[in-house]
Amino acid sequence: LVFAIWLLCSSKINLMLWDQPVFWWSLMSVTAYLLPLSANFVLYEILRKEKYAHMEWVICANFCLFVLAIGGEVAGHHMLTGMMDAFYLVLGLGQGIAVCWLVEAAYSGNELARAALVPTVGFTVLGLIDGVSGHFRLVQWYTFVTPLGIYPFAYLISAMMRLQLLQEHSLERRAADLEYKAALAMEKSERDALTGCYNRHYLQAYLRDKAIKEPFSVLLLDIDHFKRVNDACGHDRGDQILKGFTEVLKRELDKDKHLVRAGGEEFLLLCPGLDMRMACLLGEVLRQAVASRKIAGLSITCSIGVACWHGEGDSAEAMFKRADQALYAAKNSGRNKLVAESAEYTSYTR
Ligand code: GH3
Ligand code: MG
Ligand code: MG
Repeated sequence: LVFAIWLLCSSKINLMLWDQPVFWWSLMSVTAYLLPLSANFVLYEILRKEKYAHMEWVICANFCLFVLAIGGEVAGHHMLTGMMDAFYLVLGLGQGIAVCWLVEAAYSGNELARAALVPTVGFTVLGLIDGVSGHFRLVQWYTFVTPLGIYPFAYLISAMMRLQLLQEHSLERRAADLEYKAALAMEKSERDALTGCYNRHYLQAYLRDKAIKEPFSVLLLDIDHFKRVNDACGHDRGDQILKGFTEVLKRELDKDKHLVRAGGEEFLLLCPGLDMRMACLLGEVLRQAVASRKIAGLSITCSIGVACWHGEGDSAEAMFKRADQALYAAKNSGRNKLVAESAEYTSYTR
């Protein structure tokens, strides 16, 4: 903004806007003092993290000069012009030191410092050429090359935009990566590590988030005499059988069915959309699939208890309890059986 105002003041176009040369000249003098001051605030931001750089000292020198010049001018001593020698001295020294810090920062990988070097060197050299030639009358004509600083300045702006875009891009990538990892962690936290089935966390979340609507059924499956398998073949083999058992079940299930490891060798199958009749048919398919295959080299069977949602007045806990009672009945009636919660459906049991 300061540079834009200064450019306007230094151009003859301003007279078309307001024909007051003295005003434009005064404003240009004030903004001339503000140019290194405001530019050094930008450099301060760029070099803030570099321990060796102390842009605040340079800013302080610029500020003192600015206050003296304005104060003197207000007091009627024409200090805006009178302080110009000191201005160019401070400009040369201050920006010279800043350039050294920028070079050091650029070497250590500070991309913005590298981009800021171009306008800092450009402006300082151009400003000093104008200052020195004005002071010592080095050339016959009146030089005024500082406005050319717009080119190195444009370089800084484009470099900043490029870095900003790159940063946004990398932030987007990181956000997507984090989202993926969060989804993965969420998925992991809802899965049983051994079988890959859903766990009780998932069951709780499911019951909390999804309203159970009729028709809805649950199947409680429990491997028969699994303790004996463990005792005879070892715990590791038992684990393999648990895994194989769930793989056999999953092969028969579509994605609407949610298989939850309720604990040990007991699994709960949530079947939204299935009434008792359909649930019993599905249960029978599962029971036969398990019984007809060798799982991890062993023949095993399972018992199944089935319960369904009775609509308003029913609760998930009550439904699970009914499934548990049905499972208990299946175990008591000889295992490798499916028993439904109500006598009405016993025809589906074997
Ligand atoms: P039932 O037919 O009455 O269900 O008899 P069961 O032996 O299957 O029933 P019980 O509940 O007495 O035993 C279950 C066994 O499952 C006991 C436990 O050692 C075993 N078990 C539970 N979780 C795991 C597991 O993650 N891995 C292995 N290998 N065994 C497990
Ligand atoms: Mg069992
Ligand atoms: Mg059990």
